Amino acid sequence: MAMTWGHVILGQTAAALDLTREHELVHVRQYERWGPLFIPAYLVCSAVIWLRGGDAYRDNPFERQAYRLAP
Ligand SMILES: [Zn+2]
Repeated sequence: MAMTWGHVILGQTAAALDLTREHELVHVRQYERWGPLFIPAYLVCSAVIWLRGGDAYRDNPFERQAYRLAP
């Protein structure tokens, strides 16, 4: 429904943004912490998890943190 690119949160609709805002703001804080390494680190985590048979989205530590802090 939504995704974050740095400090920009893109949503399919205004309602989607309302529903996902807190989760996406966790990703903004992750981006602030990781800087330009955030997206590569996110993608490497997803790739390694997928290669090991996991869920590249739900098992990604960046997503796990976001769902833990903003379920
Ligand atoms: Zn997320």
